[in-house]
Amino acid sequence: MASAINATSNTPIRERLGLRPIINVSGTMTALGASIMVPEAIRAMAEIAPEFVEIDDLQRHASATVARVTGAEAGFITASAAGGIVIAVAAAMTGDRSLAVERLPLDTTGLKSEVILQLGHNVGYGNSIDQAIRLAGGTPVLAGTVSSTQPYQVADAITDATAAGIYVVAHSTIAYGMLTLPEFVAICHDMGVPVIVDAASEYDFRRFIAEGADLVIYSGHKFLGGPTSGIIAGRKDLVRSGYLQNRGVGRSMKVGKETIAGVMAALDAWQVRDHAGIRASEQLALEGWQAALADRTGIETEISPDPTNNPLDRLEVRVLPNSGFTAYGLASTLAAGSPPIMVRGHQAEKGIFWLDPCNLHPGEADTVAKRLAEILSGERPDNAMAVPVKSSSRTLQWPD
Ligand SMILES: *Cc1c(COP(=O)(O)O)cnc(C)c1O
Repeated sequence: MASAINATSNTPIRERLGLRPIINVSGTMTALGASIMVPEAIRAMAEIAPEFVEIDDLQRHASATVARVTGAEAGFITASAAGGIVIAVAAAMTGDRSLAVERLPLDTTGLKSEVILQLGHNVGYGNSIDQAIRLAGGTPVLAGTVSSTQPYQVADAITDATAAGIYVVAHSTIAYGMLTLPEFVAICHDMGVPVIVDAASEYDFRRFIAEGADLVIYSGHKFLGGPTSGIIAGRKDLVRSGYLQNRGVGRSMKVGKETIAGVMAALDAWQVRDHAGIRASEQLALEGWQAALADRTGIETEISPDPTNNPLDRLEVRVLPNSGFTAYGLASTLAAGSPPIMVRGHQAEKGIFWLDPCNLHPGEADTVAKRLAEILSGERPDNAMAVPVKSSSRTLQWPD
């Protein structure tokens, strides 16, 4: 029997495929499909899909778009930010030496291959930054301790073998004690070392280039609302060395015409997007959720700013034991309900989750408020006091 992927009726795709119609209030999560793609990107992808193009020319146009939006000299589109990090590291290692490009990742003879990273920046986003360095053939050199970095710990780690420094801007890094980007850049540039910034989840397309980064990597499918993709922006010589990796390690992270066109359209749409209007409707969602949770025993809420200063607020929900729930129990009840609601629950063990308003379709904010009220007014389910379990067993059973 055919799968239900091709429409033969007006039944929505998730229903046809038997996928749960989840509401995403967790943020731009890969495991949930990242973001709502903007119509401009969908149109550009559909338009270019049946056409042949010269990819180098298309990427040349993408470079101009990336340069215009970021203020960088050049750029191109990658399959993901994670892939972009690997390509950026490879670029810093090989420069424009084509034979070196072909020899990565295992044969690094004659190349600088060490990549410095503050220990508190070695985050995971599915895989980890240090694995991205090793995928390119680099050797991670972790500077400082988990909770602090002193300038000498970076400066003294730089040697003749240092290819680059990587700086990560993310809510998941250690949020204190790390060097700022300008401090990190000053140390690296003093010693002739380029700086790569992982800004996958950041709104500000200009700041890190302006602060001296040599290459910056953004995700195309997070706040931008493009297709699954990454964006590399930066110094022209390094961008060109990155593009050369399409004949090396980058080939297995290939990006196609539809993705390049989709990201270009999303970047143009970003520049004319009604950011203030979106912010205002997000604010309404937050206030609606806060009202639904007001005066509930054991539930405290606060509208809280994004930890890396993206222009985005979330509703922090603190779940105290006298609510009859743990944070994990309440989040699980929301996720198991109808419709399933996925919250931002990575700190559930601390009794906290967040409701993120940046990926809502019309009407969904009200549905979330209604479900919260229903659940908190009802009988406590069996797993109300459940605690988070750290386990990969579901993944290990896939596809069953
Ligand atoms: C999401 C994220 C990534 C990975 O981005 P993808 O485009 O999904 O590959 C890398 N680094 C950070 C800090 C992220 O938040």
